Formats: sequence, C-alpha cells, structure tokens
Amino acid sequence: MSEIRNLQPQAIWENFDKLCAVPHPSGHLARIQQFLLDWAAERGIEAFKDAGENIVMRKPATPGMEGRKVVTMQAHMDMVPQKAKDSTHDFENDPIQPYIDGEWVKARGTTLGSDDGMGVATIMAVMEATDIPHGPIEGFITADEETTMYGVNHMQPGTLHGDYLMNLDNETEGEFVIGSAGGINLTAELAYAPAAPQADAAVKIVLQGLKGGHSGLEINEGRANANKLMARVVRKAVANLGAELATWVGGNMRNAIPSSVEAVVAVPADKVAQLQKDVAAWGDVFRAEYDGIEDAIRIEAEPVAVPAERVPIDVQDRLINAIGACHNGVLRFIPGIGDIVETSSNLAIVEIGGGKAFFKDLIRSSMRSQREYVEEILTSCFQLAGMKVEVGGAYTEWQPALKNEMVDLMRTVYKDMYGEDAKVQVVHAGLECSIIGAMYPHMDIVSFGPTLRSPHTPNERCLIATVGKYWDFVKEVLARVPEKK
Ligand SMILES: [Zn+2]
Repeated sequence: MSEIRNLQPQAIWENFDKLCAVPHPSGHLARIQQFLLDWAAERGIEAFKDAGENIVMRKPATPGMEGRKVVTMQAHMDMVPQKAKDSTHDFENDPIQPYIDGEWVKARGTTLGSDDGMGVATIMAVMEATDIPHGPIEGFITADEETTMYGVNHMQPGTLHGDYLMNLDNETEGEFVIGSAGGINLTAELAYAPAAPQADAAVKIVLQGLKGGHSGLEINEGRANANKLMARVVRKAVANLGAELATWVGGNMRNAIPSSVEAVVAVPADKVAQLQKDVAAWGDVFRAEYDGIEDAIRIEAEPVAVPAERVPIDVQDRLINAIGACHNGVLRFIPGIGDIVETSSNLAIVEIGGGKAFFKDLIRSSMRSQREYVEEILTSCFQLAGMKVEVGGAYTEWQPALKNEMVDLMRTVYKDMYGEDAKVQVVHAGLECSIIGAMYPHMDIVSFGPTLRSPHTPNERCLIATVGKYWDFVKEVLARVPEKK
C-alpha cells in the first residue's frame, strides 16, 4: 500500500494502487487478468475473459434505471514498460511504486501506468460502487493496446452490449475525443557481410537524456529524435575522421520517440581525441537547437575495445544516408483546423550490427491517402539504400461520426457542472475506438480521462486535481444516460 491511497477520490486511487502492485507490462498480462477476475469474483461481479484475452465485466442497473441505454466503459489493462537509465526495475515481477510529488502522482524510476490504469481503476470503482445510480454497465478491459491492440483485434462480434462506449484512455481532462488517427508499421531491413575494421581504436558514442515521449500525442512538440541526431554525428565522423560504423542501437518502442542511442565506431587511434572533441561540440549544437524543448541532452564518446566486425563502407554510407534523409516528425496538420496533427512518422528504432540492419517506423494519419503517401516517401528512401521494406499492422482511423448522442450529453453535463465548454478533439494517436467502432457501428463513442503528462516515459505523471473532477463527471453522465427508445 502506498501513500496515494489517502488521495481523493479514494474509490479511484485505492483501485489504482492495487493495480500498481500487480505487474502488467504489455505482453505479460496473465497476472493482471487473474487479479481482475479474482477481484470481481470476491465482489460478486460477473466477469470473464473473452476470445481476445480481454476482461469483460457486467453490472445490472441500479433500481429504477433498468431501461437506460447500456454503457460500456473501456480501458486497456497493459502499460508501457519504460524506466530511467539507472533503474533496476523488473517490469515482469516488481510492483510499480507510485508516490505524490506536489500536484502529481508519479512512479519511482518507471512509467506510472496511469495510461491506462486510471481507466481500469474507474471501471473497478463503478463496478463495486453501491451508491452510484446508473443503467446497465459493462466493463471492457482490453489486452495489449500499447503494442498490437491484440485485445480489440481479437474480440468477437456480440461480446459487447453497449449503446454508448466510454473509452477512458484520453490524457487531458476537459477534452472529449471523437476521432483518431490510423497508423501503420513500416520496417526496413538489410543483411550485409560484416568486414574487419581497418582502424586501430574505437569509440562508443552515447546520446541520451532526450525527452522521447509518445510518437503521436507528442510528435508536434518538436522534440529531438535520437536516431536522427546520431546520423549527423556519425556522418561527420565518417567524412572527417575515417570512422567505420560497427554497431548502432537506438530507440526501443515503435510508438515512442527514441530518447537515446549508442553507436560504436572504429577510428584511427590518432583521431580519437578529435572525435571526442567533435562529439562534445555536437552536444553544444544540439542543446542550442533544442533550447526550450529538450533540457537534458547528453552526448559522450568513450574509447572502447576495437570491435571484431564493422559494416562494409558502401552499406554504412547507404544506411547513414537513409537515416538522415527519411522523413521524421509532423508531415501535415489537418487543413483548416490549425493545430491538430494529421500526418506524421517516427523513426523509432534503428539497430545495426551482426550482419543485419533494421529500422522501425510508425506512420500515423487521420487521412488514409496521406498515410499511404508517407509509406511511399519512406519506402523510396529506404529502397534507395538497398533495404527491403515491409508494411503491416495497419489500424484504421476513427472517423468522427456526424451524429454522436453521447458527446452531446457529455458536453451538456460538463457545461452544467463546470460552467465551461469541454474541448472536442480528434487525436493523433491510435485509439481502440477505431476498431471497436468498426465492429459495433451503432455505438456512440467518446474518449476522455483525467490529465496525464509524458505517458510512455519514466516521467509519466497524473495530475491529482483532475481525477476528482473527472470522477464526478463520470458519475453525473452515468446518472443522466437516457432511456433506450
Ligand atoms: Zn493508453
């Protein structure tokens, strides 16, 4: 038990604290699934695991509200496992350690899992409540949203009974999302025969401390991409000092902006000091370029043993050119709306070494033809480098519906409660709503939640004051859901 259990509203924070105690990184969900099933059984709540490894819960209406429309409350059970460089946290076995830091709840050295533990805790709070009036309620707690959206991709028609679907996976309180971008994974690969380095010394260049962050929600912040910066460093080292690229490891999640990268280059012994000076100078350049955006860029070059293998020169040059030339970041904003990103790409992962190179990019767009255009841009670029390009794992955009009764209700309730208008948004991230909506087209869907910042990073945090506001709002909306016609 942690100190967050004393926070208000206790109904949410207590359940969130319980979730923190059960490891639930994407891909390792057996424990959280069992926890949720046991938790429901102890309280006499109907619950089962569906064909998509999702947990479904059902609760009948409170007296007098049996005729109301059915509300499905949805959140994902998995969390992104990211930790600080010095953390020894084992995501598969260790509990998350939440703590209060001023206005925020954070976790010690890791992602917090408020994305989307806050949503799951909300479902638990409604399911176990004895004092909240509501119509028939369904909880839909999905598996592996953060990696493959396995859960919603494998759910079966007929599983859900909702007329309305509340997706509790948005990250700004007072904002209602009614549409989202689709995405597609692009992977470029190349195999090469390693050569022996000519140089008699070697250096490991480590670039770290970038903010990273969510490759959709935070792509418009202008943050540095570690792979793109490293390409500039290595290109100059090759051109000026005869450096030979041996290995490159940058980024670790396709949907995270890469925040660190390491490259090993062989270099003549009499050039090591110059390379170290150049790398230090790059640090100054990057800090100046990203002044006001990044505040902790660190780049260092330390001598290491000469590696046994290097990338052959022609391949090395093609790979560095490809990393340098490929489009990265926002391509276009939604015309006529202003500040909402329509199309982007994120060169998330670059790994080179052992005779293989692969790049992993995630393209997002709320307009299908623009997504396809970026696929063409990147495919052209990587094919010019002699790489084999594959796309897959596409998920559809969630087109805002012309008529959405639930968002109308929510706007009215929000205005009544808080005297201000909620912001209606289309979000530049993949939401499960697109897949649920495609299977259940009659559902009115809205995504919302309390305020979180820097999800998918060890700096993930949840703004305490917004949780109570959000919880009061959820309860009021449930109370005002209209009768089924
Ligand atoms: Zn999420």
